[in-house]
Amino acid sequence: MDTARRRVGVMGGTFDPIHHGHLVAASEVQSWFDLDEVVFVPTGQPWQKADRTVSPAEDRYLMTVIATAANPRFNVSRVDIDRHGPTYTIDTLRDLSALHPDADLYFITGADAMAALLTWRDHDELFDLAQFVGVTRPGHEMDEATLDGLPADRITLVEIPALAISSTDCRDRVERDEPVWYLVPDGVVQYIGKHELYRASTPPAATTR
Ligand code: ATP
Ligand code: MG
Repeated sequence: MDTARRRVGVMGGTFDPIHHGHLVAASEVQSWFDLDEVVFVPTGQPWQKADRTVSPAEDRYLMTVIATAANPRFNVSRVDIDRHGPTYTIDTLRDLSALHPDADLYFITGADAMAALLTWRDHDELFDLAQFVGVTRPGHEMDEATLDGLPADRITLVEIPALAISSTDCRDRVERDEPVWYLVPDGVVQYIGKHELYRASTPPAATTR
């Protein structure tokens, strides 16, 4: 009887838009832990980003599908966008562990998100539900104090190739009419253009020539 448990990575994010920093992080952790699969989980209404308008969940979901479609080990889950109310990681992990009862979960976060771990809801139960994998991220040093009080055996820090890309920067670039080619996958560049995402909401005043 094969009793080996599957290993499933969970890459949560707003993905507004998904970029190559996310994809490299997921790919590195997949390889590092020999994961059977990495599930990307776009957030519903992100409670930490109440200060700005987040693009519609369906746009963020579709960009995530486009970006991951070619990788046989990458999948996308709708659990967070189909759940009403703000997204909490504890709910994401509860839903995914119910959907994958035969799997050990590996929750992948960048150094910045890891630092916020202690502010997350029910963080004790989080560590029962998943192993936490913190990946390095340029501009976000993870100091030892961040990990104080967290269960060392449930957290692994992984150094990944540094890609100084953020969704915020991608949005700002589109708004300024600067290119995002090679920062995000080609299909995502095209999706952003087709759906006119991240453009200033009021068109610039008409100019006379
Ligand atoms: P925003 O600028 O809108 O916050 P973001 O680029 O931080 O977007 P998120 O969707 O907030 O992207 O991040 C999802 C996860 O991916 C988080 O755990 C974050 O730390 C991680 N992450 C994002 N960009 C990188 C990167 N360049 N390298 C490593 N990890 C990253
Ligand atoms: Mg972020």
